[in-house]
Amino acid sequence: MADIIQLLPDHVANQIAAGEVVQRPASVVKELLENAIDAGASQIKLIIKDAGKTLIQVIDDGKGMSATDARLSFERHATSKIRTAEDLFSLHTKGFRGEALASIAAIAHVELKTKQEQDELGTQITIEGSELVSQEPTVTPKGTTIAVKNLFFNIPARRNFLKSNTVELRHIIDEFHRVALVHHSLAFIMYHNGSELFNLPTSNFRQRIVNVFGGKTNEKLVPVNEATEVLKISGFVGKPEFAKKSKTEQFFFVNDRFIKSAYLNHAINSAFEGLVKDGSHPSYFLNLQVDPKSIDINIHPTKTEIKFDDEHTLYAILRSSVKHSLGQFNIAPVLDFES
Ligand code: ADP
Ligand code: MG
Repeated sequence: MADIIQLLPDHVANQIAAGEVVQRPASVVKELLENAIDAGASQIKLIIKDAGKTLIQVIDDGKGMSATDARLSFERHATSKIRTAEDLFSLHTKGFRGEALASIAAIAHVELKTKQEQDELGTQITIEGSELVSQEPTVTPKGTTIAVKNLFFNIPARRNFLKSNTVELRHIIDEFHRVALVHHSLAFIMYHNGSELFNLPTSNFRQRIVNVFGGKTNEKLVPVNEATEVLKISGFVGKPEFAKKSKTEQFFFVNDRFIKSAYLNHAINSAFEGLVKDGSHPSYFLNLQVDPKSIDINIHPTKTEIKFDDEHTLYAILRSSVKHSLGQFNIAPVLDFES
């Protein structure tokens, strides 16, 4: 029998990885914003055209890259953020898989400009469908600008599968919120088709929530603060009377990373039991700080799910601290159970 197994060429492997990492323009937005944060940026600008279908650009004032690193950053499994398997359990960065840029470059036209503080000249790189088109020195300020154009240009099935601009922009704004809310000490600006959608100055958590969701949000926020041996909780829940039909104001962050957890969501809902009507959803903006060793983020390529060592304890603490906060603000049940 002849041997038939082959190693896939890198550009094919990258396209396969891209299938998992990049579902839609919003996925690119998430990865690029996270890279800017990991680079220590203090100002991050997001520029979108046609709901990300023609352009997604992120401009940061972070630490930039050397010419060599700029080229390497597009290789698969190329990361400056971890070195050993143990590092996976002490993560202090958003990224660590080293696959976002490789994946994005496999399915789009990408232009990167980057410069480190100490370098006179920066580097400009153009890559299309994993192929290096050009790399040359350029004049550019400290930091990184990355432009992703014509997403899915080489995967027509994916491109055709994209939803209307309204829907895709909604997803982008959702990702923008998830990043901008918890990173309130950084300044963010977002433009879509030339108009400014958000201009968020450096602020505290409460102010950031208000800047994102509007002035009326301020009066409805009840602070939640708790510190135990295993967990620190900080943030806000909405007063029960402001519960919404939609779940658009429910945000869980773990160590400053937005995550989805039906289980912990249930803990909050149960703290609100009897205070909100069935079918209404309380608002919450909660950041849980836990020991990085007690969680595993590496269970899904998009890193929005986490495995906790001790979920039951977290559930109990979360539920009781939310209850306690609601109680402190003298929030009495609003429902009449007799009727
Ligand atoms: P990861 O973030 O998982 O390391 P990425 O593919 O997103 O993988 O990025 C690869 C590498 O490129 C990063 O580890 C980082 O060193 C570098 N990089 C990416 N974006 C930026 C940026 N905006 N500023 C500085 N360095 C960056
Ligand atoms: Mg990354």
